[in-house]
Amino acid sequence: MTGHFLLRGARIIDGTGAPPFVSDLRVREGRIAGIGPDLSADGATVIDAEDRYLAPGFIDAHCHDDLICLREPARVEKAMQGVTTLVVGNCSFSLYPKTADSADALRQHFSSLLGAIEPGEIFDGFSSYRDALHAQGIALNMVSLVGHAALRLSVLGYDRRAASAEERARMQDLLARQLRDGAAGLSLGLVYPPSAYADAEELLALAQTTRAHGKLVAAHIRSYEDGLSASIDEFLGILKSAAAPGLLSHLQAAGRPNWGAMPKALEQLEAARRDGVDVSFDMYPYLAGSSFILQLLPPEALEGGLSALIARLSDPQTRESLRRAVEEAPKSKVAMIGWSNVRISGTSNPALKSLEGQDMQAAAAQAGITPFDLMVRLIQEDGGQTTIVLFQLHADDLRAACTHPLHMVGSDGLPRPGTKPHPRAYGTFPRVAGRLRREDWFSLEDAVRRMTSVAAERFGLRDRGVIAPGMAADMVLFDDDIDDRATFDTPTLLPTGVHHVWVAGQAIVENGQSTGRLPGRVLG
Ligand SMILES: [Zn+2]
Repeated sequence: MTGHFLLRGARIIDGTGAPPFVSDLRVREGRIAGIGPDLSADGATVIDAEDRYLAPGFIDAHCHDDLICLREPARVEKAMQGVTTLVVGNCSFSLYPKTADSADALRQHFSSLLGAIEPGEIFDGFSSYRDALHAQGIALNMVSLVGHAALRLSVLGYDRRAASAEERARMQDLLARQLRDGAAGLSLGLVYPPSAYADAEELLALAQTTRAHGKLVAAHIRSYEDGLSASIDEFLGILKSAAAPGLLSHLQAAGRPNWGAMPKALEQLEAARRDGVDVSFDMYPYLAGSSFILQLLPPEALEGGLSALIARLSDPQTRESLRRAVEEAPKSKVAMIGWSNVRISGTSNPALKSLEGQDMQAAAAQAGITPFDLMVRLIQEDGGQTTIVLFQLHADDLRAACTHPLHMVGSDGLPRPGTKPHPRAYGTFPRVAGRLRREDWFSLEDAVRRMTSVAAERFGLRDRGVIAPGMAADMVLFDDDIDDRATFDTPTLLPTGVHHVWVAGQAIVENGQSTGRLPGRVLG
């Protein structure tokens, strides 16, 4: 593909929600140079796009590809979905900023989500992370949020206490530096220690710093279960007090007792917007979530960090009280969804590999132990690095969220090669444009809007998310049969129906194959 090409007769879906129209489109030097009927070839390479849809490249508004972009720069399974920009650093997890004191803790923290990571894979700040990505090259563009955990680990470690005024100021200072250098905002993970240990004053102070730099606050809120409504109010309160724009991460009502709670949650967001709070949300189109095994524990269990937890687990009394908290406390995840709905999806220890794909109930029975004891064993023998899939949502709630006007698409995929991950990492975008559109969740133009302009606007990507002259030529060409193939049992199947994907006018997918080109940039 040259720097000058012409798409002939594409059905253009421009990303704004407008219906498709048939047109030619010219790309020159990485940008859309013209749109109209019967454009002259003018020396351009001509690509026949008849009967195919041309849309802005999809933006994954919420993912955890921070580490994998360093290891697999081509990001084949994302490129093959038509994704051209990734938003990383979510749920309080980013690979920066580290300090001399926090480096080991930050590494361990990130490992619980995505497996073991090397000392050279965490960074002093946004700039050094960006420079490392640019030095090696990346296929897709990236937008990076600053994880609250990295800030807190730098200043307070895993201490479960409120920050002092001086500690707050140090976190604000560290955050401000990242935002100045180009980070897109702050991400909270209020269910995950140490982000979960912050008090209201700390969250407000950090949101104010974010706002002062014109950036946004994203939040994995404190509860998606019975505390959903209160947790939404907590986040909205922070946004309102700081006058900061916000993105509520993967909005859902989890656990059978909370099914049906989505309409109220959506009303809360709508009411806040009427009240002047600039908030929207992302969600993936599946009935299961995915996380890591430590999320089954109450946040206080992680006080002092993972090694402190593992040491405490050898005391029978502590272990028994933890068991009660995990299995019997009415608000615990396990009490609500049941062990059989928790599936082991990824492990680091090769001796535990055979457990991947099994649910906790069945795997424990096979081992002749209780599911709780299996969980403890995974924490001990897998260094807390076990990822899980949680079957916990109701179809009506999912549909209400994913068809709401404030919704944008984020995969929340947890890339971990060699494991049996949640299929959302391989199928989210074709599933929205294909299966769900055919099931009438939305029109194709509305599906595309949720995957493009809505996220571009939220993250301030002014020259992306829409097909129009002058915009960056991040685009995807697909056909009417676009669909996901990845399932919970075979989660790494690539989708069908995506023909070409361009980033800044360079093809990263050509005729349905990854090209290995690396035209992506860290935006900001
Ligand atoms: Zn999250």
